[in-house]
Amino acid sequence: MTLLQRFLDELYQRYHTLGDGTVASYIPELKKADPNWFGISVVTVDGRVFGAGDIQQKFTIQSVSKVFAFGLALESQGRDTVLEKVGVEPTGDPFNSLIRLDEDSKRPFNPMINAGAIATTSLIKGSGPTSKLNNLLSMFERYLGHEVFIDMPTFMSERSTGHRNRAMAHLMLHFDMISHDINAALDLYFQQCSVMVTCQDLAMMAATLANKGKQPVTQKQAVNPDYVRDILSVMYTCGMYNRAGEWAYRVGIPAKSGVSGGILAIVPGKAGIATFSPLIDKNGNSVRGIRVFEELSRKYGLHLFDLSMGRCVFSKATQDTSES
Ligand code: GLU
Repeated sequence: MTLLQRFLDELYQRYHTLGDGTVASYIPELKKADPNWFGISVVTVDGRVFGAGDIQQKFTIQSVSKVFAFGLALESQGRDTVLEKVGVEPTGDPFNSLIRLDEDSKRPFNPMINAGAIATTSLIKGSGPTSKLNNLLSMFERYLGHEVFIDMPTFMSERSTGHRNRAMAHLMLHFDMISHDINAALDLYFQQCSVMVTCQDLAMMAATLANKGKQPVTQKQAVNPDYVRDILSVMYTCGMYNRAGEWAYRVGIPAKSGVSGGILAIVPGKAGIATFSPLIDKNGNSVRGIRVFEELSRKYGLHLFDLSMGRCVFSKATQDTSES
């Protein structure tokens, strides 16, 4: 057994009983999640898989999808057009905050908040709703390396209760930040949030970004490598709701969380890491996930600005079976 695998098992044991946080309930379907679900998964850029706990439990991806939709929007429209409709500034707002548009440009602040994500998703190429959805699903399949499904109950649940998101879309329509067919844009956004994944899937998607956009197992390019830097920069500054600064300080790697309890993070050039536990804090981040990432970052010197340890410690732990 590798040292990394041993440490993941240890982290699972240490945190699986941590009961802080609550299961998200504002989307009725999310309430059905089992608060005990907990998984930790690591996939290296050469496709080796490590994990502990419920890494094959399916759940809806929710906000973590925003990372990948941003990449697809960049590929669809190019950087300049996308940046006309959405900025790259952190907001410090919680996940469910009402929209704040930039006072001068009227753009939503960044693609990782709901308003920005609705604007980004509306930029995905396609001749109509079905073709846009197909493009979105093929994009997820390139990252995952397998077929992808939308959870219809969650999609319908959010579609019928997502009034706040509808209000944001109307305001953005007023300021010409989104095209006139806002119902189609919202449907696509709700579908994107309802894509089913597992914790191991998230780690694989993260590993793809860590590997310059090339899926580690299929070796297919999931996203144009020119845009990986764009995606990781926005994740680093805006990916963890209004805990993004604290995360950058303590964990120090680009990440994104979602209200269903997933967190994925990228160790550039090395690996993708994901956690899943539906108990989230008031910011919308998984409580156990944060603890696990803080420990992993500390133990393996993963923080991007941690120059003392060097990330070879992490690589060694994926290979070595000896204690060091
Ligand atoms: N579909 C959710 C919403 O729009 C995503 C929220 C999240 O995970 O932050 O409210």
